[in-house]
Amino acid sequence: MAAEAVDLILTADAVLTVDAAGTVVEAGAVAIRAGVIVAVGPAVDLLARFVAVEVLASPGCVIAPGWVNTHTHLAMNLFRGAADDVTLEVFLERMISAEMRTLSAETVSIGTRAGIAECLAGGTTTALDMYWFPRASRAVAAEAGFRLLNGPIFMGDQDPEGRDFAGMLAEGRAILADNRAETPDDDLWVMPHSAYLLDRGQLESIRALAADAGARVHTHASESHGEVAMAAQVNGDRPVAVLDQAGLLTARTVLAHAVHLTDGEIDRIAASGVAVAHCPVSNLKLGCGIARVPDLLAADAAVSLGTDGAASAGALDMFAAVRMAALLHKGTTNDPTMISAERAVRLGTVDGARAVGLADVGTIEAGMQADLQVVRVETLNAQPTRDPWSALVYAATATDVRHTVARGRIVLRDRVLQTIDENTALRELSEVAAR
Ligand SMILES: [Zn+2]
Repeated sequence: MAAEAVDLILTADAVLTVDAAGTVVEAGAVAIRAGVIVAVGPAVDLLARFVAVEVLASPGCVIAPGWVNTHTHLAMNLFRGAADDVTLEVFLERMISAEMRTLSAETVSIGTRAGIAECLAGGTTTALDMYWFPRASRAVAAEAGFRLLNGPIFMGDQDPEGRDFAGMLAEGRAILADNRAETPDDDLWVMPHSAYLLDRGQLESIRALAADAGARVHTHASESHGEVAMAAQVNGDRPVAVLDQAGLLTARTVLAHAVHLTDGEIDRIAASGVAVAHCPVSNLKLGCGIARVPDLLAADAAVSLGTDGAASAGALDMFAAVRMAALLHKGTTNDPTMISAERAVRLGTVDGARAVGLADVGTIEAGMQADLQVVRVETLNAQPTRDPWSALVYAATATDVRHTVARGRIVLRDRVLQTIDENTALRELSEVAAR
């Protein structure tokens, strides 16, 4: 029988498929053709069955799906370290003033490129990204081979290009039309910042814009006590209720944070199908609190993970988010069985993909998009590797990622970025930060 041709075969000590059964293939391999996974199985079988343009062998490593970061602001790498150890309210005040001074299509491109470089070098292949100049970010992501989900952002009357709200709606409509034309198969996104920086009328206009375009929605909700109070001041109710009344609490919306929830809000979130992007590192750093993730999971709500931007989280590090999600809720519940290592990997991969509506991302199975990370575990910090889930969650770090494959393309090879010049990205970032 003639061997079947594929583009790439990856082999490693184990493949964490993250399929429904949690299958781990020891001495495993993944065969990829045209950006799609063709087969997963024992390396001996796949190497006999397929002939590949390249076989990338990674002894001492495990292969896992690329991380799906369901809440970030990539270009905020420009502002890393600019507002540490302050409250969310002070953070936002400082950030918005710096952003209005600094941001342009050029600087957002530079910040986003550095952010995507950090993501790819740390095993993240998809991000839900809320920021200004979304056209600029999309162009950078397309060059880098990164799966970026974004769309027009609405943040009250804040616009670095000086539009009023009507102008922002018109620009939003134009961006959605262009995105639809350029990537007809991808879902569109509309990004109202929050129920405290937008009033009810604005939220309803944004919902109508999203409905007309068939777009998904991403927003912040109930991140801090201060935010809950501000929503009450601006809109007379708690953020989740305001969003619900505006028609934005649906299975096509992702809420970032959702830290301060009542029991009733948890029930409503679960019933509506809205997804919660849990950002534990950012929530801790800003002193916002600890999201009620065990209660959300018990209610069968959709939960995924995000980093938030580098200015609020310190880094776009999904290993940190996954590990923190696994650790934090053991601490709050005094229950070490809460969020196992495997469950944490699911939150960071397949659950994130489902939250953002990607049915063919987040697991390593035939027919899925080839978004993968190859992580070295034969290291001082991860040996011996008794359980690859445990190694990935409790021991490995972002710098242990050897290779990253996005849509079948090797975008990080032996820790060298292939689609972004790392030195140029860093130099440009420093130049903008020094302005
Ligand atoms: Zn955010």
